[in-house]
Amino acid sequence: MKLSGLHLLLTYQCNLECDHCFVWGSPWQSGTMTLKNIREILQQAKDLRTLEWIYFEGGEPFLYYATLLRGVQVAARLGFQVGIVSNGYWATDIQDALEWLRPFVGLVQDLSVSSDSYHWSAKLSEQAKNACAAAGKLGIPMGIINIEEPNETDTASTLGQLPTGESPVMYRGRAAEKLASKIPHCPWTKFSACTHEDLREPGRVHVDPFGNVHICQGISLGNLFQRPLNTLCRTYDPGSHPITGPLLAGGPAELVRRYKLPHEERYADACHLCYEARQTLRKRFPEILNPDQMYEVREAP
Ligand code: SF4
Repeated sequence: MKLSGLHLLLTYQCNLECDHCFVWGSPWQSGTMTLKNIREILQQAKDLRTLEWIYFEGGEPFLYYATLLRGVQVAARLGFQVGIVSNGYWATDIQDALEWLRPFVGLVQDLSVSSDSYHWSAKLSEQAKNACAAAGKLGIPMGIINIEEPNETDTASTLGQLPTGESPVMYRGRAAEKLASKIPHCPWTKFSACTHEDLREPGRVHVDPFGNVHICQGISLGNLFQRPLNTLCRTYDPGSHPITGPLLAGGPAELVRRYKLPHEERYADACHLCYEARQTLRKRFPEILNPDQMYEVREAP
């Protein structure tokens, strides 16, 4: 596995609780990286020698502003290109957004702000407009992430015919519970491939505050606080991994067949079937299908 990008889920917490979120971001969620965690992860990232990009995301990374800023500074000092993904809640006004963003000038090469009807009342939110204007003035490259809303009659999102700039909902995580019922379903046997992640040769993976390295959210390749990232990458065998093996052999439908899982007759998309199958398998593979935060909101004890 030759990774070029590592995405740090700086926190599972978010000020919002969007229906389409596939990591169950929530104000009530627990799990946030410390600076010590971040330094260790970035050092392991450096040791890998193939990584070019480090992304900070969540949850909402700007909730832990000082930790985010220092993490970005360390990543830039180590020579990485740096990106941040945010919902832009902090951009209440252009002048204020300038203050929030100014410390990142010269350190961040990609700021992605989510703006759609899940996050805000308008498709292009005032926050996104303010963040865009401030980023433009400061010379920080910025893009908007827009997730199209599903509806009962339009299957464009599942057929890949959305207007340019819009992305479909993927029905995993909270989206599986909250939104899957809103679109037409297809027979489960149709979902014979994972269409959204390269499970054989991933270019990027996510690491969460507990050290889990996710090839897709909720499918762990191991814990980098227990085994270094370069060992996890070197020893990853996609075909023999208990979850990616079946997914590569025949998609989520094969996951169901391989483990003889109970199932409905129809699902919204491949991720919906995959997510429901994994929920059923969690007790059997607790080290792989974790942490709980990827499968529900886990309040701090
Ligand atoms: S099918 Fe499963 S592994 Fe593939 S992108 Fe969807 S949830 Fe992830």
